[in-house]
Amino acid sequence: MLDKKINLFLNSKQYKKFKLLAVPFSCIFIHLFVLIFAAVYHVEPLAIFNVASIFTYIVTFFMIEKHPKTVFYISFYEIVLHSFATIILIGNDFGFSMYFIVICPIAYNLLYSFKVKHPVVKACIMTFISFIFYVLCYVISEATNPVFQSKDLEYITPAIYILNIFFVFVVISISSLLFIYENEKIYNKLIKQNNVLDNLASKDTLTNLYNRRTMTSHIRELYKQYENGEKIFSIILCDIDDFKNCNDTHGHDMGDRVLVEVSKCLSQQIRDNDFLCRWGGEEFLIIVNNMDLETSRKIAERIRLSVSNLNIELDSVSIKVTLTLGVSSVSETSDYNDLFKLADQRLYIGKKQGKNKVV
Ligand code: GH3
Ligand code: MG
Ligand code: MG
Repeated sequence: MLDKKINLFLNSKQYKKFKLLAVPFSCIFIHLFVLIFAAVYHVEPLAIFNVASIFTYIVTFFMIEKHPKTVFYISFYEIVLHSFATIILIGNDFGFSMYFIVICPIAYNLLYSFKVKHPVVKACIMTFISFIFYVLCYVISEATNPVFQSKDLEYITPAIYILNIFFVFVVISISSLLFIYENEKIYNKLIKQNNVLDNLASKDTLTNLYNRRTMTSHIRELYKQYENGEKIFSIILCDIDDFKNCNDTHGHDMGDRVLVEVSKCLSQQIRDNDFLCRWGGEEFLIIVNNMDLETSRKIAERIRLSVSNLNIELDSVSIKVTLTLGVSSVSETSDYNDLFKLADQRLYIGKKQGKNKVV
């Protein structure tokens, strides 16, 4: 349920906006908190810095749609400078150095989604800058005392530290979650597109039946099973009689309609474990599983009859078509190719004998 809602959100237009606004919005929130803290504890330079930062982020709200990358770079350097200034002013015990770390994964994520040139190189450089500032702050705070020191500040240190670590955990959790969901979204899209491609590659677009390529690999598989003594099967090659004539007399659209109606009729006549394909222009091939030649001929006869009973209509013109069918069974063959040759020869005989026949 929650997953579904998150996925809907990820696919919505608001998500892109949310992602763009998340950085300045959370920065304003954190700066407001630091501003109050600095004002209450009389760390005036820090209060001024935070007012300037809040003002900067308010300005970035107006730039974000057109210049999201610039807003991101401004935010990055603002966070680095603000953390640095805070540590110099009040010391390294308040947890502000954690922001040097948390902005690194966000830099990788956002630079990638902005599709900037060389995102990894840029994110690496930003990470390196963050690292240098982190070390610098550590060394300075070990070597010197902060500019502002007081009993009150010492007293509030654990609370500020916990609040900072809380913000950092929230930011890491949200950005990691979004990263996971975005990946999943791309993965699902790929699966869907693969299915569409699979369908396109394996099926005929006009009739939606399997195409010759899929059928051939299926028959090869079945033939192997037959050679291993696992099963028998037969094939029925069906060819529409005088189809060229039908196209010439009633037009290509009627020809297409005939192909669609005949394929529907054939689909209804076969069983679930049989296999039907459009073999070529006006030819269809059926695999009849676990059936000998005689039974397959009976099935072919039933198919012939049902197609000959069809009334195919287009633009108030109604026509009838017939099929000639050549049947062969694996038990008559010594290799895979014989199966098609035999069915084709019998189809040819049927045509010679006047069409609308099962041979
Ligand atoms: P026979 O009774 O001997 O099978 O004669 P026929 O006219 O059915 O066979 P022929 O091979 O001479 O002609 C087949 C025709 O099928 C020619 C071709 O234009 C038509 N055809 C092939 N594919 C399509 C298609 O997708 N749509 C339409 N409308 N016609 C097609
Ligand atoms: Mg033909
Ligand atoms: Mg034909």
